[in-house]
Amino acid sequence: MSEFKVAVLGAGTMGAGIAQVAATAGHQAILCDINGEVLERAQVRISKSLDKAVSKGKLEAEVAEAARSRLSISTDRPGALADADIVIEAVPEIMDLKKKIFSEIDSEAPKAWLLGTNTSSLSVSEIASVTEKPERVIGLHFFNPPPIMKLVEVINASRTCPDVLKKTEDFVRGLGREPVTVIDAPGFATSRLGLVIGLEAMRMVEQGVAGPGAIDTAMELGYRHAMGPLKTTDWVGLDVRLAIAEHLFKEIGEQFRPPMILRRMVRGGKLGRKSGEGFYLWSEDGKCLGPNTNL
Ligand code: NAD
Repeated sequence: MSEFKVAVLGAGTMGAGIAQVAATAGHQAILCDINGEVLERAQVRISKSLDKAVSKGKLEAEVAEAARSRLSISTDRPGALADADIVIEAVPEIMDLKKKIFSEIDSEAPKAWLLGTNTSSLSVSEIASVTEKPERVIGLHFFNPPPIMKLVEVINASRTCPDVLKKTEDFVRGLGREPVTVIDAPGFATSRLGLVIGLEAMRMVEQGVAGPGAIDTAMELGYRHAMGPLKTTDWVGLDVRLAIAEHLFKEIGEQFRPPMILRRMVRGGKLGRKSGEGFYLWSEDGKCLGPNTNL
């Protein structure tokens, strides 16, 4: 397998996990953020996640140690990108922010054959339009948490070069993940379908049909979903789901109108697992403490 230098931009929920996956697969991974404290916390989280994988017998201790040694953090983006082969952007789901970053990294990463965006719903072609070389821009939609989830949705944008697409699918397989390639349509396949169920579940809570625990258990047992739609929302982040819903409401229509309960919870800082409170309550180390009865 080819070994690449992979720069991941944004050390939040997704970026840290993506860098961990890249380093574990044998690549040099450098994680960048504008916030040094976020980077340090991400490094601790990655280290704990590697330890947990070892203690569960899912990873050899030497592989975890090698992954740690291949992973670094930096607030100096131009320095990190100068010799990167692959860049994966995982900053918040805001089109103007992603476009600003892509317009800048275009020249900061002259060697990179792949400029990937982890967007959940935004147009990859529009993001690519601000670069000089849109043929190397592609959607790389990892799932949360990246070290566990095997799917990477690959988004073939309107000007992505076929060779870049093929090399990207190979890169994803080399990470031990399964690529599923779709065209650049709003919400792709997964966010579009996943959100319809998630938003409907929130409306059901709002209407008093049942509480989050009952709705999730019904979907887990009745439809064999590994995790119900409201717990999934807590894992994703309510702010992230709201941003996606706003975008799909504009692009596709009424079925994606964000429910009031979602807006209210985001305004109140109830963002799910990362803030300790969402449709469930969460401990500081990310354990679920049970459904939130105060919604
Ligand atoms: P997050 O809010 O947890 O993390 C975003 C990080 O980006 C923060 O650490 C922030 O400091 C950093 N950041 C902001 N501006 C930056 C800049 N200019 N340069 C570098 N870093 C910057 O967000 P997240 O949940 O990790 O989502 C990131 C992307 O991944 C979004 O596009 C989201 O839609 C997508 N996504 C999220 C999930 C999920 O479950 N959370 C799943 C799949 C895809």
